[in-house]
Amino acid sequence: MDLGITGKRALVTASSKGLGLGCARALAEAGCDLVMNARGAEALEAEAGRIREAFGVTVTTVACDVTTAEGQAQVLDAAEQPDILVTNAGGPPPGQWSDWEREDFIAALDANMLTPIALMKACLPAMMERGWGRVVNITSQSVKSPIAVLGLSNSARAGLTGYVAGTARQVAGKGVTINNLLPGIHDTDRALSLDRGVVDAKGITMEQARAERQQTIPAGRYGSPDEFGATCAFLCSTHAGFIVGQNVLLDGGAVNLSM
Ligand code: NAP
Repeated sequence: MDLGITGKRALVTASSKGLGLGCARALAEAGCDLVMNARGAEALEAEAGRIREAFGVTVTTVACDVTTAEGQAQVLDAAEQPDILVTNAGGPPPGQWSDWEREDFIAALDANMLTPIALMKACLPAMMERGWGRVVNITSQSVKSPIAVLGLSNSARAGLTGYVAGTARQVAGKGVTINNLLPGIHDTDRALSLDRGVVDAKGITMEQARAERQQTIPAGRYGSPDEFGATCAFLCSTHAGFIVGQNVLLDGGAVNLSM
């Protein structure tokens, strides 16, 4: 299917690995020029090079921490009012309800709520003026079904979800859609580190931790960054203009909310 976005300019933050990279690759395959970002320059440059070679699109890289005001200014400068914005950042650490102090919450809110909000506020006016724009925020299945050990993530994602629910409906009339993609467990470094936490807590092997987790997923496997990216690219396509303010679960059936 032609996604109808050849030549559009896309900013994908936190995109040198994992789900962000899956989104960047799928948008490049659809013909978008990219601005990619991560803190570490090495993986970022390597993946940008692979994308240029595979898809022949322009890729600009910005190595910075997107959760800081300076980092946000840098990616926004490089992206020059993009047509497509995909927001992403690393997830907060797991723990117990009693572990977290005010500064832990502030860090989680900065990364997973206030950063995507700042990026949207910067990009939406030009999208609305042009009469076309797409925003996809990478959040988490924890929005639908909060995960006990991810209290910081649960809290920050809930705040972003509330903001998007109102904002998406205020900008839709100008041809701009905002939707959230909610990953369940996907095969990335983040999943590896969560599995390592289970290994440490339960004294089991990585294979056992993974098998245990897979049993909770009706699809019987972890998701892949490529299939996640393909869904993101579809939400950014010309065909998805009537999908507004949705929280789209990609979780192999793990969260059962069919009613
Ligand atoms: P990942 O494999 O650890 O990749 C994270 C990417 O983001 C890397 O490219 C990393 O590069 C970059 N990054 C992290 N912090 C950044 C920052 N402050 N500024 C700029 N770039 C940053 O993670 P993932 O699995 O793709 O997860 C992406 C998001 O989805 C996270 O918020 C995670 O909590 C959420 N999620 C993931 C899953 C899953 O199963 N994978 C499930 C639910 C939710 P650098 O380290 O070089 O900066």
